[in-house]
Amino acid sequence: ALEAKEAGIEFKNVTFKYTPEKTILKNVSFSVPPGKTVALVGPSGSGKSTIMKLLFRFYDVDSGSILVNGVDIKSDITQQSLRSIIGVVPQDTVLFNQTIKYNIQYGRIGAADADIIEAAKGADIHDRIMTFAQQYETTVGERGLRLSGGEKQRVAIARTLLKAPAIILLDEATSALDTHTERNIQESLNKMCVNRTTVVVAHRLSTIINADEILVVKDGEIVERGRHMDL
Ligand code: ATP
Ligand code: MG
Repeated sequence: ALEAKEAGIEFKNVTFKYTPEKTILKNVSFSVPPGKTVALVGPSGSGKSTIMKLLFRFYDVDSGSILVNGVDIKSDITQQSLRSIIGVVPQDTVLFNQTIKYNIQYGRIGAADADIIEAAKGADIHDRIMTFAQQYETTVGERGLRLSGGEKQRVAIARTLLKAPAIILLDEATSALDTHTERNIQESLNKMCVNRTTVVVAHRLSTIINADEILVVKDGEIVERGRHMDL
């Protein structure tokens, strides 16, 4: 079974295709030691999100293997067990037509209110929630209160903080946020990723500078790797 506290990641010669005609990832190998952060950068369509999807096991690799804590995710653990130790913060968060509270505790029904509030504070969204008439019971999403892109992402960060996963997969938003929101989100993200094994598709220079290793992905291959100052 997986030890939920610390988890290293290893990609070993991974190849993958969505369709038989086109190989998307070619011989991708890298590792992320427990608690470290690897940033994926590269052109649109190069395969960055695909790497994340394979790690969350939306698809299985065609050849090679992906290990989490030394365990092959394709054959040696259940998808459920894998996903229980991974938190995902997508590029564009879609919230459920449910209360803020539901959206934060998603997957952890029965979480203590105090923990939900602590997570919301960590994501810097608590004060905003308290301005709504129904506070944590406010319905959000398509048929409820509309939140901005930055606010939605902070709800996703709060959800991830509450889950406290060993691994975080973060697809940074490309959309421009105002400088103030940007800085707040960045602080929340930094807090979230401290001591957690993180794979981030990075667009922000600050994320790239802070990463322990940067992988440059091009046409499904890692063409360069190193620290920011080396590249
Ligand atoms: P971006 O920076 O634009 O998000 P990316 O590096 O994340 O790009 P991927 O989403 O990994 O790129 O896509 C890599 C390649 O796989 C692209 O050529 C894309 O068209 C293709 N692709 C992605 N998803 C699918 C899918 N579900 N079915 C078929 N092809 C796909
Ligand atoms: Mg992508």
